[in-house]
Amino acid sequence: DTDDLPGDATLREVWRDVLRRDPHQELFHADVRAVLRSIGPVLLEHPGYTDVVGRLCEPERVIVFRVPWVDDAGRVRVHRGFRVQFNSALGPYKGGLRFAPSVDLDVVKFLGFEQVFKNALTGQDIGGGKGGADVDPKTLSAGELMRFCQSFATEMVQHVGAALDVPAGDMGVGPREIGWIYGQHQRLAGHHEPGVLTGKPAALGGSALRPEATGYGTVYFTQRMLAEQGHDLDGARVVVSGSGNVALHAMDKVVASGGTVVGCSDSRGAVAEPDGVDVAALREVKEQGGSVADYAEKRSGATPGEGSPFTVECDVALPCATQGEIGPDEARALADHGCRVVAEGANGPVTPEARAILREAGVGFGPGKAANAGGVAVSALEMQQAAGRERWSADEVDERLSTIMSEAFDRVRDAAERYHGDPTDLENGANAAAFLRVAEAMTALGVV
Ligand code: GLU
Repeated sequence: DTDDLPGDATLREVWRDVLRRDPHQELFHADVRAVLRSIGPVLLEHPGYTDVVGRLCEPERVIVFRVPWVDDAGRVRVHRGFRVQFNSALGPYKGGLRFAPSVDLDVVKFLGFEQVFKNALTGQDIGGGKGGADVDPKTLSAGELMRFCQSFATEMVQHVGAALDVPAGDMGVGPREIGWIYGQHQRLAGHHEPGVLTGKPAALGGSALRPEATGYGTVYFTQRMLAEQGHDLDGARVVVSGSGNVALHAMDKVVASGGTVVGCSDSRGAVAEPDGVDVAALREVKEQGGSVADYAEKRSGATPGEGSPFTVECDVALPCATQGEIGPDEARALADHGCRVVAEGANGPVTPEARAILREAGVGFGPGKAANAGGVAVSALEMQQAAGRERWSADEVDERLSTIMSEAFDRVRDAAERYHGDPTDLENGANAAAFLRVAEAMTALGVV
């Protein structure tokens, strides 16, 4: 069905090709379709960009590989590894590695496609890619995970490079894993190449503030959204889902900005705490392998619950866990409670149906490709530091991060107004603004 695609025959043809090539990639399809819808009005103004659309929706290269390793019991185990090198028009492929049982080609292509647009919105010169493996790192011992990372890196070494493809972390992959991947890479390459990975531990040249960057950046973006509505975070009630790297740092920034975190969650459950979550205490529990329910047990004002934290009354919702966590029910609850802004700290946490409900109810929506771009933005700053053999202070990185997020917001809002006639339509605005940047570069490169 191509009825809702703008009247351009090329867009409908591209859509049919995407479906025909990979019939079962639903996440990827939904994302492509949303982008095609957003860029229709851009093509009216820039008809010359029409012929990049087909190329934009097809990854430049897809690498699928075997990851064999030996577990603690001496058994040989096998997982599947992926790296999708989606688009390099703006710079080297850049994007994270995800280790999770749900990782498959659909997930990685969806995330890689998102990354192309996200990276363009940062204004930096980075292309888009994504990778990972279908492994559950929570079930592996530290030794097993190190051997897994080494096996993964043994294949990756031939596909990456500071000017080619620069992976980083994502779900299940943090500085520790990046350190192990880098260690094996360095051993195989036989020389130092710190620009080949970002999100490295500080001891190996990781940038100051890289761990905080996605969470902080999401809050900076949220502050701009609230300011447009004449509000701010001071005194705001905020629900932050997830309790990984992104969520915990977003909570820190919310509290530092005068807001109260009234609800949180992890994969095992949710907690409501109207007087405010004690982020330091939550972090401690999580670091010791506990759950948010364990945290709630120690706090008199906290109520543990099952399922979603988004039924808690709030002014701002920051989904920072994983894709699909806000569906129609959660969106309706947020709208009914008068929530003003939902900004995606995770990739794709708000489903298309939920987005429609938020739009209908007038709740501001910050799409992840813009709102959570702070992580990859500081990764690009890490590449810059590696290339210049420099180390910047946390203050310096923070200042650059906040400027990048603010400029990304301006770009998205301006494109929303210009091409979709509504400065609050940040979803269409993000796709339009990112497309303009990538399409300009692709056109300049010729048909390659
Ligand atoms: N995985 C993060 C993202 O989704 C960061 C990628 C990177 O730093 O390259 O944007």
